[in-house]
This record gives sequence, structure tokens and C-alpha cells, in this order.
Amino acid sequence: MKVLITGGAGFIGSHLSEALLARGHEVTVLDNLSTGRLENIAALESHPKFHLVIGDILNEFLVDKLVERADWVFHLAAAVGVDLIVKDPLRSLMTNIKGSEIVLENVYRYHRKVLITSTSEIYGKNKNGPLKEEDDRILGSPLKSRWSYSTSKAVDEILAYVYWREKKVPTVIVRLFNTVGPRQTGHYGMVIPRFVEQALQGKDITVYGAGTQTRCFVYVKDVAEAMIRLMENQDAVGQVFNIGNGEEEISIKDLAERIIGMTASPSRIVYVPYDEAYEEGFEDMQRRVPDTSKAARYIGFKPTVNLDGILEMVISEFRKSLAPAQESVSL
Ligand code: UDP
Repeated sequence: MKVLITGGAGFIGSHLSEALLARGHEVTVLDNLSTGRLENIAALESHPKFHLVIGDILNEFLVDKLVERADWVFHLAAAVGVDLIVKDPLRSLMTNIKGSEIVLENVYRYHRKVLITSTSEIYGKNKNGPLKEEDDRILGSPLKSRWSYSTSKAVDEILAYVYWREKKVPTVIVRLFNTVGPRQTGHYGMVIPRFVEQALQGKDITVYGAGTQTRCFVYVKDVAEAMIRLMENQDAVGQVFNIGNGEEEISIKDLAERIIGMTASPSRIVYVPYDEAYEEGFEDMQRRVPDTSKAARYIGFKPTVNLDGILEMVISEFRKSLAPAQESVSL
């Protein structure tokens, strides 16, 4: 297959590119390098079936040309990370809503197949768990960035679904829960790379709120594999799937303690109020656990790496990248 990945130089997109190339597909990545990084795909650039186009999904002419040349489109380009969304809400909304609209219009025009990446933010403050695909969305005011982000992704889902229902465009939607692994940076707020970096540098570990909020973390390569299998599965068309790891729920405070233990770090935990960490009136999700039984039924989805396994990989990657800096300090 000829595959177009929007946002393919990002953390998840780069792992997806790798997995598709390993299956023999031809991969074109479209990325504006806003949060994507060339170093994520550096190892792929010499691959004969890999192509990189630096550009924006809001560039309709470019997207038209690239979708025309593809068989499958994985649409990952989006504003990511709660931090970024709170700091840059207008651009985040434009990228998410207009970007998806442009991609879907072209997929329709050229009769292609598309996978739209959505998010567990869709469920908002729903504290039930494990969350099923048909569960209610519970949101606060649309004037709060986090809820407008959730709504922007819901608009993407609706568009994808309606294109399928009305125009028979083959669309698949995945809702990704906290996805982690090598190459993820802490720059956009993601908790695991943040805590690991802080622990290895002996800095304070910044737990937001009381640290009682819980999350479940899934390994990025399991996510990439699931996305490909869903795209290969004809029955998945017109459907939405949770992808995450519902088996290990951990509070953010326990996560901080576990990372301190695994890195033998002298770091202390400090508790930062949400208002300070994000913005005034910020509301966090207190609990977020996926029910992935639907993905298990359709594609046999099952996470292969547990939280400790993921943490070991991330810690070892950060140890390597931080090593030269630490050496020069000790010289
Ligand atoms: N978090 C934290 N300290 C940080 C970064 C994040 O305590 O330095 C918390 C954040 O408030 C949330 C959880 O860790 O409760 C997961 O945050 P992340 O941004 O990774 O993902 P989210 O689940 O919020 O999308």
C-alpha cells in the first residue's frame, strides 16, 4: 500500500511509520515539524520506501496532491498535549477541526481509506471506568481550553462518521489513551517523560493537584500495531475503538514514587496546584481507564508491555540522551 501519515514525524507517527515500512508498505510523512521532530524519523530517511514532505495540513493544495497519491491515510496531525492546548488554543482548534476537514474532503474526493486519531479526552470528566466507546461525554464550559479541545476532537469524529454514513467513505476512528514510550518528550506536558527527566536530573518531581488522579499507560508500539490492524480490518470501517491499557491503573503520585525508585533518584515530590501548572480554573480528569474489549474482539488487541517495561525503556533512553550533559558537568 501507499500510505500517507499526517503528523508522521511526531512521537506516535514515527513509530507507525516504522511499523508500516517493516510490513513492506510505502510511507509518505506530511509534517510541519511544529511538535514533530526530524530526529524521530532520522533512522527512516535512508529507507527507499520512505518519503518526507515538510508542510502543513492546512495547505489544501498539498494535501490534495498527497492524498491523491496514497491508498491509505493515517491522520495523526493535531495539536497535542494539554500544555500546548491551554497555551495556544486558537491554533490548536484550527489544526484539529480545519485540518481534519481538509483531509476528509480529499479522502472523499479520491475514494481513499482513512484512520482518524481521536483521544480519550472525548470522555471528559466521566469518572466511570473502564470507559466504553458508547459512554457519555461529560464536559465543562466550552470556554475552558481543555473542553474545547475535547469538542474539537469530537467534531473530527463526527465528520469522519458522517462521511462514512452519508458518502460511504471508509473511515475508522481510534481513541488513544495515554500513549508512552521512547521518543516522547516532556515539552508538551506529558507526565512520564517529564518525571523521568526530572528524576534523572535530581530535580523536584512536579505532581499536579493532589496526585490522586489516575491514568493507564499503553506502549506506543502496541498502539501503532493496533492502528494498522484496524486499517486492515474491513469490519472496523465506520466504527470507533478505544486503544489503551486498561489493566494497570496508577495514581500520578504513585507513578512519581515508582520513577524515583526505579532511577534511584534523590528527587523530592512537590505538589503544584492546577491553577499554577495550567491556568486558573483548570479541571483535570480524575480517572481515565479504557475498556478495550471492542478492539480485542475485532483485532485481538492486547497490550504486550506493562508499565514497568515501558518505564525501563524510557529511563534508559533518557539516561543516554542526558549522559553527555551530565559528563560535562562532572568534568
Ligand atoms: N501531570 C503532573 N505533572 C506533570 C505533568 C502532568 O502531575 O509534570 C499530571 C497531569 O495533571 C495529569 C496526568 O499527570 O493528571 C497525566 O498528564 P498528561 O499530560 O501526560 O496526560 P493527560 O492524561 O492529562 O492527557
